[in-house]
Amino acid sequence: MSMPSLFLSALFVGPLVQAALPPVEPPDGIIRRLPTAEKVVALTFDACEAGKRATLDHAITDFLISKGIPFTVFVSGRFVHDNATAMRDLATHPFVEIENHSWSHPSDMRTLSDADVRAEVLRASTEIYSVTARKPHLFRFPGGYADGRVVALVRDLGFEVVHWRWAEGDPSRGVSADTLVQQTLTKTRPGEVLIFHVNGRGWHTAEALPAIVDGLTAAGYQFVLPSAYLPQIHQQAPSTP
Ligand SMILES: [Zn+2]
Repeated sequence: MSMPSLFLSALFVGPLVQAALPPVEPPDGIIRRLPTAEKVVALTFDACEAGKRATLDHAITDFLISKGIPFTVFVSGRFVHDNATAMRDLATHPFVEIENHSWSHPSDMRTLSDADVRAEVLRASTEIYSVTARKPHLFRFPGGYADGRVVALVRDLGFEVVHWRWAEGDPSRGVSADTLVQQTLTKTRPGEVLIFHVNGRGWHTAEALPAIVDGLTAAGYQFVLPSAYLPQIHQQAPSTP
């Protein structure tokens, strides 16, 4: 795809995703909200790890698991490698989805060669499978940086690319729990994919989650896994203990 047409398609993303009827096919191959008009929302959490070691934020996962609320973790391969026990524990819960967020969390995968893009994806999937016995089917680009070339490469490997319509911004320390709650309750629409961080950089996320869950539930929302609304995706089989 040429740069001008990429630019144009980017311009059209906003109006399309806000239309009353869900798009059948995302215009640029990136899913930013689930294709449904039902009052459902997907809680997703990125577990990024690039150079510096990161650890799973158990305050987030313990809360959601104690409530039986489905959620998805997009995890980099290095994070899985360094948090193997915690990730293996997460995978014992069938309502927790573990998906692919690259191996080394490059700052911008658009700068990588085709071979290196594929290697980032496949190495992460191999690590996720070896630790959790889960086979990822969804991919999220680090930082959300993607173009037509890298999206096509990832989709050709059998993944759907799942991003977000608006970012919570929880890796910024200045984004308070109150802000997280208020913006979520104000902005969430049917099929919303919410993005938080579970690698220790979601500074106020654990603090905000109970009010977010209560507020969305009171507004009639149910929490779902993205794969349930992406029929082309095989849902992850729960691992056997
Ligand atoms: Zn990330």
